[in-house]
Amino acid sequence: MPLERIRFIDEPELDLEGQRVFVRVDFNVPLDKKSGAVVDDERIRAALPTLKHIADAGAKLVLASHLGRPKGKRNSAYDMEAVGTRLSELTGWDVHMPEDLVGDGPLKVISDLRPGRVCLLENLRFDPGEEKNDPSFAKQLAALCDYYVNDAFGAAHRAHASVDALPRLMRERFMGLLMRSEVQALEQIVKNPAKPFVAILGGAKVADKLGVIERLLGKCTTLCIGGAMGNTLLAAQGADLRASRVEQGELARGRSLLARASEFGVELLLPSDVVVAESPEASTGEAVSISAIPAGQMALDVGPATLEAFAARIEQAKTVFWNGPMGLFENPAFAAGTLGLARALANSAAYSVIGGGDSAAAVRRAGAEVVEKIGFISTGGGAALELCEGRNLPGIESLRMPG
Ligand code: ADP
Ligand code: MG
Repeated sequence: MPLERIRFIDEPELDLEGQRVFVRVDFNVPLDKKSGAVVDDERIRAALPTLKHIADAGAKLVLASHLGRPKGKRNSAYDMEAVGTRLSELTGWDVHMPEDLVGDGPLKVISDLRPGRVCLLENLRFDPGEEKNDPSFAKQLAALCDYYVNDAFGAAHRAHASVDALPRLMRERFMGLLMRSEVQALEQIVKNPAKPFVAILGGAKVADKLGVIERLLGKCTTLCIGGAMGNTLLAAQGADLRASRVEQGELARGRSLLARASEFGVELLLPSDVVVAESPEASTGEAVSISAIPAGQMALDVGPATLEAFAARIEQAKTVFWNGPMGLFENPAFAAGTLGLARALANSAAYSVIGGGDSAAAVRRAGAEVVEKIGFISTGGGAALELCEGRNLPGIESLRMPG
């Protein structure tokens, strides 16, 4: 029961007026390498309902996130400046940004904040205590606040200080609105999905995803697999993928997965055709059958026949879960499979959930009219997968009240 004994920040009797409310957000957004500006602000937007709720209640908002991998050291390439600017543009709020992460500096800024006003702390990963889940760093964070809220679903699978040790120190700890909708959407997929339930897997991180596929085998009607993940399973079946990206170390697990799918009576679709080219940078590709990939070429997208087969399953489905792009969609020459699948999902009446950072970005590329028709697009990559796998997430467990 993932949400058992968890309090939510929109609890009706809660009086937040004048209280210092710490919100762990996931503002780990992509930045432009040259200008340092925020390239995609989806994660900031996704947290706004929680933040507005707390600000409207007259609390002092203390926001904190990690950004990139500064590895426990201050690094101006990863400071929160650009994030604070974008937050301010999106909300009209005057965002106060103390220089130090913890200690007297932020304490003073927060104590001077007027109700409903906002302070954004520096990158949590500037302190080595964050990733080490260090209790003394957590204590310093706890000194800054009266209430704790976690709305950082994308970081919920990491036992870091702001996600794990800190909430355990706080008597008043709550889940935010984004995190609640994430957990509810994913729960609906893994618990009692309406059938036919079609799961579509793709992308590159094969080792990370085999566990999820194994769990989905017991639930789904049809499993469609494309992308580099599809390559690996085709190779496990003995196909010659030529120069394609294949995870050689996962072939044995791939074979056992294929065997288990047939034990479970799950229909498993692998690509019958692919779009090939000589390199990922090629400006065009050619669709060929799986058995006819020319020497030296690599499969970079699923072909039209495969897309049609996957789309036909989606049309019949009542529930769809999709993780992992169908190809190297970052190059428009190899985006047709992924974008076509996104459109098929938008046109279907099924309840659809998309998880995975790259998958979400790919679907947004298909346009607002597609995004609008998707049931739920998760902001969490690894966290969404671990939840689907049935694992306990530190960011959820640490919020649970004693039973
Ligand atoms: P997600 O973030 O949605 O979980 P992954 O991180 O597993 O997805 O995989 C996304 C990456 O996989 C993308 O960068 C995409 O270019 C790459 N990819 C997908 N299919 C292929 C392929 N056939 N060959 C090479 N790379 C691929
Ligand atoms: Mg990814």
